[in-house]
Amino acid sequence: MAIISQFNTQEYYNFLKVGKALKRTAEGLSDYAENVIKTFHTSLLQQHGNAVCSSPGHRKKITYDKTRQSWKINCPSGVCRNWMSSIAAQYANPNPRNPPWICWENTNVNDWPVATQSWQLAKPFMSEGKASSCNSPADTDPAGIFQLLIYFKEFAAQGLNIQQVKDVRDIRNALMHSADSAVKTPDMKAHIQAMITLLQEPALSIYQCARDAINDLRQGAAE
Ligand SMILES: [Zn+2]
Repeated sequence: MAIISQFNTQEYYNFLKVGKALKRTAEGLSDYAENVIKTFHTSLLQQHGNAVCSSPGHRKKITYDKTRQSWKINCPSGVCRNWMSSIAAQYANPNPRNPPWICWENTNVNDWPVATQSWQLAKPFMSEGKASSCNSPADTDPAGIFQLLIYFKEFAAQGLNIQQVKDVRDIRNALMHSADSAVKTPDMKAHIQAMITLLQEPALSIYQCARDAINDLRQGAAE
């Protein structure tokens, strides 16, 4: 059967390997991503306090006002608006002519001032559909981690080479949309090298999980 016979090809094996390598890369990035978000969350707790909004007129729905070019939330107490503005200010809009794309549906407004819920501030920077069970980098798919690094300004501000993140994001997207689930061996090696190059960024040099991932990826590319 043609479907089954493909399982034994080198190119299908390479396809699976690149998928695994993307997951390993996201794991290697996880402590850095978590650290930056936790630091940001701590600074917002200092600015806005840890009071959870109890305003009776509060609605969680956030919309974009094109005329004023700003996000709107109906929160009479102002608590949620302060948090929302600080989070939105971190968004690196790739095209200033278009309204910002921030996926507020991913996050629970009421969790923002909760000390243990820092990952809620990361989720709006990912594409839609992040589950309520996604509460840490370990619960987040590689695409979500890559998008966070690209769109959350602080990573670029710390000197992370965003183009290298985009290169890996593009590898992931091409893999997901591959019509034949096949990757040639030289391409597999080039893809994994792009992931290693990202994990070798100076901003990641202090993280053991990044070093461990580099070792695994080197071994994987050679097998
Ligand atoms: Zn509110």
